[in-house]
Amino acid sequence: METLDYDVAIVGTGLAGLRTAIEVLRRDKGRLGLRVAVISKLYLMRSHSVSAEGGTSAVLYPEEGDSFELMAWDTIKGSDFLADQDAVWRFVHIATQEIRLIERWGVPWNRRADGRIEQRWFGGLSFPRATYAQDKTGFFEMRALYDTLLKYENWDRFDENFVTSIVIENNEFKGFTAIDLKTGNFRYFRAKAGVIATGGAGQLYRITSMAASSTGDGYGLAYNAGLPLKDMEFVQFHPTGLVPRGILITEAARGEGAYLINKDGERFMKKYAPSKMELAPRDIVSRAIMKEIMEGRGIYDDNSGLYHVWLDMRHLGKEKIEERLPFIREIGLKYLGIDIVDQPLPIRPTVHYNMGGIHVDIDGKVLNANGSPVKGLWAAGEAACVSIHGSNRLGSNGTNECLVYGYIVGNDVYNYIEKERPALPNPSQNILLAEEDRIFGKILGKESGGEDVYQIKDELKDTMEKYVHVYRTGSDLEKAVIKIKELKERYKYIKLSDKSRIFNYNLEHALELGFMLDIAEVIARGALLRTESRGAHARLDYPNRDDANWLKHTIALKGAEGPLFSYIPVKITMWKPVARVY
Ligand SMILES: Cc1cc2nc3c(=O)[nH]c(=O)nc-3n(C[C@H](O)[C@H](O)[C@H](O)COP(=O)(O)OP(=O)(O)OC[C@H]3O[C@@H](n4cnc5c(N)ncnc54)[C@H](O)[C@@H]3O)c2cc1C
Repeated sequence: METLDYDVAIVGTGLAGLRTAIEVLRRDKGRLGLRVAVISKLYLMRSHSVSAEGGTSAVLYPEEGDSFELMAWDTIKGSDFLADQDAVWRFVHIATQEIRLIERWGVPWNRRADGRIEQRWFGGLSFPRATYAQDKTGFFEMRALYDTLLKYENWDRFDENFVTSIVIENNEFKGFTAIDLKTGNFRYFRAKAGVIATGGAGQLYRITSMAASSTGDGYGLAYNAGLPLKDMEFVQFHPTGLVPRGILITEAARGEGAYLINKDGERFMKKYAPSKMELAPRDIVSRAIMKEIMEGRGIYDDNSGLYHVWLDMRHLGKEKIEERLPFIREIGLKYLGIDIVDQPLPIRPTVHYNMGGIHVDIDGKVLNANGSPVKGLWAAGEAACVSIHGSNRLGSNGTNECLVYGYIVGNDVYNYIEKERPALPNPSQNILLAEEDRIFGKILGKESGGEDVYQIKDELKDTMEKYVHVYRTGSDLEKAVIKIKELKERYKYIKLSDKSRIFNYNLEHALELGFMLDIAEVIARGALLRTESRGAHARLDYPNRDDANWLKHTIALKGAEGPLFSYIPVKITMWKPVARVY
């Protein structure tokens, strides 16, 4: 075992991880000489954030009618009133400064004729406030952050290092254990402060817009360290995933004016959201599409056996498409041979985002089972649940959360080290040895058992796709819970076919699958317990929102027989819940 000593260890190199690293180093300016480790199971720039397409919301032009109140209201109404309003209020203010800051770091925002930054419509917004760089916003943001990070010296990157556990003793963070995938060596990142920025878990499903690496490891790491997960039953389906695989067709397409059309050629959104039409929030548009399909107005795709509706951009014209949606045109051409200039795209809802995540406070500090901070541990980005998005995130509110919370967490980490001057931790060696034995002895070394990692993963994806989808029912969710239990049991008997140490993806996939099974169980059981419909959680057997009983966050802790659930109140400071109509 190799021990690597750092002041701060950050797991994840998406927008949240990189922004956090910059903030720690920017604050320090060499004063304390803090050393930062930036760890990623991927090559740094391959993090899912690069594929963010449509935009990043912020209030830029109050004089033209936007305001912090309006952005906060849109976010809270979009969340179906499950967002914590104090966190939203802080978030909308910091988002503006982040847009200006990353412009100086190199993001080439699209411009208006008057030279000011251009903004576009996104679903659920009352003002076009999604700031964008073509339809490759995430790529340009990641590039600007990475370029900026390169200006600093006191950090090291650990690409292709897979973190396997969080070391915590006596409510104190003591580091991360990891496998260096290139060599297969076991590593202990010993650090005074840790940040989890591991992104979401779209891979639990068959059809998803999220990267193959979005397996929710951070949720699994926290859960297995005895830390609570919050609101995991709220899984976002993006309405427009390209059939068959669910590759994202950005909401900016509808922001620029695209229509949704059923098999009869009807713009069906007029029945579901007469005033917002295609620009209603994602949960509402996803339900509308599934309803059209369920009621026989979808189009059957022979190749995939899936039903879909059409996303029609023909009326936008070639010039606008080339200027604002070049990537979407490329995706259509590359994957289906369809040019959106003269043909519509087949689309259906695709799993896109996890509203829930690691339970953190308004500063991103990770909270323990009693609701108090774990000393020295933070989480940011999609891995964390503050909660800003409640039960439904608005499009263009994900990237900005990563930037805002990278800023907040970076500062909070720095303040902690500056004020408390913690020493490097010394965990008991048993914890580290037990983890090494779990991976290399109990999983890699096991010769008995005949279960296959990929077979179990396939069955898990099918189960989630079939029973824990846009529309849910008690009986479907019960089937999911039973099946996931069975898969968890079978997982104990997996046997790896690759026994080598170097780049052993078989081992990595086995560890990811362990996390995925845990998270799936938390999602399905949390959804079964929540007997109401709110935001992305739509129960056919409980079709109404039930504020009297369910205006509360779900907290899930690992128990001996599966997750244990409790509930905590939502922070409501400015707006009382009202009916959510668009
Ligand atoms: C296709 C797509 C388009 C999107 N478009 C937009 C948009 O236009 N606007 C918007 O606001 N939001 C958008 N979103 C949402 C937003 O982009 C994401 O929520 C956000 O980028 C997540 O960033 P992150 O930093 O939290 O994590 P990610 O970018 O997902 O990065 C996760 C990091 O964690 C690392 N990691 C994970 N597990 C481990 C482990 N076990 N060990 C070591 N490292 C690990 C990975 O290697 C990676 O570096 C989009 C999302 C998708 C999928």
